[in-house]
Amino acid sequence: MRRGRPYPIAKRVLLAGDAAHIHHSVGGQGLNTGLQDAVNLGWKLAQVIKDISPDSLLDTYHTERHPVAARVLRNTRAQIALLRRGDDGRKAARDVVAELLAMDEPRKRFGAMMSGLDIHYDLGEGHALLGRRMPDLDLMVDGQKLRLFTLLHSARGVLLNFGKRGGIDIAPWADRIKVVDADHDGAWELPAIGEVAAPKAVLVRPDGHVAWAGDESQRGLALTRWFGPGGA
Ligand SMILES: Cc1cc2nc3c(=O)[nH]c(=O)nc-3n(C[C@H](O)[C@H](O)[C@H](O)COP(=O)(O)OP(=O)(O)OC[C@H]3O[C@@H](n4cnc5c(N)ncnc54)[C@H](O)[C@@H]3O)c2cc1C
Repeated sequence: MRRGRPYPIAKRVLLAGDAAHIHHSVGGQGLNTGLQDAVNLGWKLAQVIKDISPDSLLDTYHTERHPVAARVLRNTRAQIALLRRGDDGRKAARDVVAELLAMDEPRKRFGAMMSGLDIHYDLGEGHALLGRRMPDLDLMVDGQKLRLFTLLHSARGVLLNFGKRGGIDIAPWADRIKVVDADHDGAWELPAIGEVAAPKAVLVRPDGHVAWAGDESQRGLALTRWFGPGGA
């Protein structure tokens, strides 16, 4: 049971979607960016309103989403500059970019950027997955095949344990996080960066980004940082 309101609530104005970043529709990035703002913010707001996490959790909304929106603005401006009719120089620039995009590596990177699949929140040093969007892996859970994203439907944190069955106990956070013992046989392939080493366990936030991957010494810190103090 919660004892009063442990965290002071600061007055804030939080902007999401076009209210936060209006840009040309070129490339069709507006809806995706706005929806991801909402998904990044929603669970954080819920936890702060329910006194599960301190108000400072909301600071991470700006820290994480502002650079994403700034990059969208930059690439839409660049695309518009290239598309404008004009001198020979602009046509030459368009031709150079078209040549680059005919190559596999630049095209993959550009595609990952335009789709937002390469978004990497800076959550510090660690596994390559940290801060990135969790891939929608094929899993075996309790003898059943399922896709990882189905585990996120309840909009709660999910801790996936790929090691010894029942080997992870996070009792103080059990009311907030679902622990799932799972197997995945295939590669861990991420857009833009390719294959990464398989971690023994991964903590996925409700917005689908990886909050922690495999390093036991950091697990409690990550749980507290993203899901409030244990047993609060
Ligand atoms: C021509 C065009 C083409 C586009 N094509 C694409 C595309 O192909 N792909 C893509 O992803 N994106 C595209 N976009 C961008 C996309 O439409 C926007 O990014 C997206 O709709 C923004 O959603 P939003 O909810 O943030 O804002 P909005 O959709 O603008 O919603 C804001 C809502 O708030 C309401 N409102 C405003 N003021 C008040 C008030 N004071 N009180 C109450 N309600 C208020 C408005 O009426 C509106 O319903 C395009 C945009 C345009 C203009």
